[in-house]
Amino acid sequence: MGAHKLLFSELKLWTSGGGGWIARLHKGGCGKASLSSCSPKVCIVGSGPAGFYTAQHLIKARQDVEVDIYERLPVPFGLVRFGVAPDHPEVKNVINTFTQTAKHSRCSFYGNVNVGKNVSITELQQAYHAVVLSYGAEGNRSMGVPGEDLAGVYSAKDFVGWYNGLPSCRELSPDLSCETAVILGQGNVALDVARILLSPIDILKKTDITQPTLEALAESQVRRVLIVGRRGPIQIACTIKELREMVNLPDTRPDMVAADFDGVKEALKDLPRPRKRLTELMLKTALEVPGEKEQERRSKASRTWGFRFFRSPVEVLAEPGHSRIAGIRLAINKLEGSGDGAQAVLTGEVEDVPCGLVVSSIGYKSLPIDPSVPFDSRKAIVPNTMGRVKQAAGLYCSGWLKTGPTGVIATTMNNSFDTARSILEDMDSGTLDMSAAKPGSQSISALLEKRGVEPVTFSDWEKIDNVEMKRGESRGKPREKLLTVEEMLHVAWT
Ligand code: FAD
Ligand code: NAP
Repeated sequence: MGAHKLLFSELKLWTSGGGGWIARLHKGGCGKASLSSCSPKVCIVGSGPAGFYTAQHLIKARQDVEVDIYERLPVPFGLVRFGVAPDHPEVKNVINTFTQTAKHSRCSFYGNVNVGKNVSITELQQAYHAVVLSYGAEGNRSMGVPGEDLAGVYSAKDFVGWYNGLPSCRELSPDLSCETAVILGQGNVALDVARILLSPIDILKKTDITQPTLEALAESQVRRVLIVGRRGPIQIACTIKELREMVNLPDTRPDMVAADFDGVKEALKDLPRPRKRLTELMLKTALEVPGEKEQERRSKASRTWGFRFFRSPVEVLAEPGHSRIAGIRLAINKLEGSGDGAQAVLTGEVEDVPCGLVVSSIGYKSLPIDPSVPFDSRKAIVPNTMGRVKQAAGLYCSGWLKTGPTGVIATTMNNSFDTARSILEDMDSGTLDMSAAKPGSQSISALLEKRGVEPVTFSDWEKIDNVEMKRGESRGKPREKLLTVEEMLHVAWT
């Protein structure tokens, strides 16, 4: 049964036009006499790590707060489901904590609700004392170069969405018939994409990677992956664990350009420890003659990967007379300044690299979802101070929408706890107006029903979860994801 059906069975009605309760109030709720003792109602938009960690902190800190989480998709967990690489199952253990939060008696999940389309932020603000925007970064930075739209060029966001079963990326079907792939950007997402392109199928088939992706990768002709960065080895954005995975990836060998590392050894001593260890591993991989065993492993490898530094994309090149890519033109850069802050400056020289696949992995980007919410288009974030949206009382933000699209789950957790603390402070200080009772999900459910939108509850999600795990079991995988919203809704409601 859909969430709103449950709610209606309790006969709680709210009229947005009439501005108040119009029917009898439910058992345990606030009557007019007890308005001041009403429990604070908070709604969260987005059920990724930011949404769940914000909810968790609020529920733990106050015994009276009620939290509703609205999610666009019928399934929860955001990038933990649709971003984290399938061969990193341990990272997804955070889902256990999120599930505990979702099942808490003072937390409700409403999936299949697209905030900004099905319900506006203003409507949410009328229904709740506080609204927290935690809807992540669903766009991507574009390269802004000619040829970017040619067939064979993909954003990492779409490529990752494809292998992770994001419904909107189901039909991407990237063409993997070429030998060389170029990935632009050298962050952890770039390394995820490189690893998925080059991993032996026997490894991937034990993960929750989607079946169509597995079949496409089994046929893939990609043998060489170049991971291109605009700055140098000392500025690389990936972390050591992910680099180590590349170095040890079975059936692959590294292929670097020694000259890219000129002067790097000398700079080691001044680097902070994590950066120093990362750079040492790169130097070892690029320049040292490996031991006998490693030499043998490398000589047998059928695939190669390598970093290319000091290169910025200037044009994606087309095959003559075709709309398919033939290669990429890279500007050769030099660095001005040193350390993290060093800037890539064009030298005027360019280099053409033949390739049949380009994945642009230069960052995700948050998008505005409702014109009533302040949005900083330059930084692509909701402008905020400690999670309080500027010039918008009662409105908060957390996660990537608050900080921009960087940071691992632990970083997102901390910034979401900070936002929750701001909300709690505002509740305690009276800055957040809680003088009037708010209807919460009851009014929103009524609106959604009027608009023909049926939310997916957390127990509906658990049905989807069960079906996916069962399908996976028969293939020796942890899960086989449902790939369309229609299929998810069908399972949820039958
Ligand atoms: P998200 O996780 O994106 O959650 C946002 C949620 O909001 C989504 O569920 C989305 O569907 C929903 N939403 C969007 N629009 C609406 C709307 N209009 N209405 C309602 N809901 C909406 N970190 C690690 O620690 N380890 C890793 O291995 C790791 N791998 C990663 C791999 C990739 C490819 C990426 C991109 C990131 C990875 N991260 C990893 C980082 C981690 O995923 C982020 O720190 C974290 O997911 C950010 O959380 P968030 O809640 O802000 O955004
Ligand atoms: P990222 O770490 O910010 O890396 C972005 C890369 O794109 C950098 O190399 C950056 O180079 C480059 N870039 C940005 N703009 C560019 C431009 N205009 N032209 C050329 N290059 C450009 O972002 P990400 O890889 O998308 O990862 C996002 C976050 O998720 C990170 O915090 C990451 O650690 C996390 N994540 C973690 C894991 C994991 O833990 N396993 C996996 C995936 C993602 P510059 O440095 O020169 O700007």
